[in-house]
Amino acid sequence: MIVLQGTPLCNLNCTYCDLSPASRKLSHRMPIPMIGKLFSQIKQLELLADEVSIVWHSGEPLSLPPEYYDEAINLVLALNNDDAGTPARITFDFQTNATLIDHKWCEFFQRHRDHLRLGVSCDGPRELHDPLRVNWSGRGSHTQAVRGMDLLAEHGIKFNAIAVVTAETLAQPQEFFDFFLDRADDLTDFHFNILANHADGGPTIGYSRNDTRKYSEFYRTMLSLAQSAKGRNLPVRNFSQTLGRIRAATAPQPAEFLRAGTAPLRQLNCDARGEITTFYAGLSAEFLADHYGDGKGLSLGNIEEQTLAKMLGGHKLERMMDDFGKSHRHCAQTCDYHAMCPGGFELTQLVENGAFASGETTECVIHVKTLTDAVASFVSAQLRQPA
Ligand code: SF4
Repeated sequence: MIVLQGTPLCNLNCTYCDLSPASRKLSHRMPIPMIGKLFSQIKQLELLADEVSIVWHSGEPLSLPPEYYDEAINLVLALNNDDAGTPARITFDFQTNATLIDHKWCEFFQRHRDHLRLGVSCDGPRELHDPLRVNWSGRGSHTQAVRGMDLLAEHGIKFNAIAVVTAETLAQPQEFFDFFLDRADDLTDFHFNILANHADGGPTIGYSRNDTRKYSEFYRTMLSLAQSAKGRNLPVRNFSQTLGRIRAATAPQPAEFLRAGTAPLRQLNCDARGEITTFYAGLSAEFLADHYGDGKGLSLGNIEEQTLAKMLGGHKLERMMDDFGKSHRHCAQTCDYHAMCPGGFELTQLVENGAFASGETTECVIHVKTLTDAVASFVSAQLRQPA
C-alpha cells in the first residue's frame, strides 16, 4: 500500500481527526512530479508487490480537483507499464468524507472505475455523526455526507463505508447498524473503527479497561444484527477479518499477522511535502516527533532531499525495526492472543506503557481481545445449534 497525501487540507474539522487542525488548514498539494519520483524509485528498487493499492488519504482528497488525480493516475499507470520490469496490478483508493461529491466527481469515479475504489467516512445516523463530524463553523456534516452518498448511488458507484464508534454509538447499536443496512445495496462492505482518542481530539483514549463489558455487548449485538440481516448482505469487515484470523491461528502453520501487519515497506506513506514513513498506513511524521532524536518522528527522510534507497539503508530504519521487533517478541512470549492479533499497537505500547517490549494496552483489550472473544463465542454458539 502506498498512501499519498495529495493535500492536508480538509473542509471539515472532525473532533477526532489524527491530523492537527492547523495542518488541515494548509492548502499545499503534493506536486505531480513527486508522485512520479516516488513510484519510479519504488519500481526501480523492485519493491512493488504483484498487487498495489495507492491510497489518497490524510486530508480530504476531494479538496483537490478531479483533473489533479487524472494526471496523477495516468502518470502512475504509464510508469507501471513502461518497459522496465513486470507491471503491478494497481488499484487507486480514495477515502473521502463525501461532502464534496458532485456530478463532476461521479464522472471521475466512473471514468476510472476499472482501477478505483472508494471509501466513505460516515458515522451513521445524524445524531451520532453530527456532534463530531463538523465543519469549521462547528456545524454537523451529515446532510452533505448523505447527499454525496445519494449521488454515488444515483450513478451506480459502490463504495465501502467506514464509521467511527464512540461511547454514544454503544447505546444505539440498532440505529447505527440499520443506517448502513438501509444502504447495503450501495456498499461493497462496512467497517467500524473504535474511537481511539478522546472526542476532543486529545491524546488520551476515550475508554478504559473498565468498559470491556460495554464493548463486548456492542460487538455481540452487532454480530446478531449482521446475522439476522443476512438476506440484505452487509459484510462487516471487522467480523470477517477477525474470524479469518481465528481460523488461520489454528492452522498447522499459523500466519504471522502480528509481524506482517507492520512489516517495513508493507505500507509506505508520503505526505504532501515528501516526508516518507512506513509501518502504519497514514503514519504522520509529526507523531512522536522527538523519539528518534531528529524531530521528525518516524520519518525515513524526504523524497525531495534523498533517494528512497538511501532512506532504506539508513540507521534510523534499522533502529525502528529493532524497536518493533522487541514489541513483537514480547507479545509472542506473553500474550495468548498473539497468533490472532492484527498488530499495529507497537507505538501505543510505547506511549501507554513506556516501552516497546511491554505487552498489553487498553486498545489491545478492547480492539483485539474483546472482539476476538465475542466473535469466537458467537461462532461457537452457532455451531452448537442443531442444523
Ligand atoms: S499484547 Fe496486544 S499487541 Fe501484543 S499480541 Fe496481545 S493484543 Fe496484540
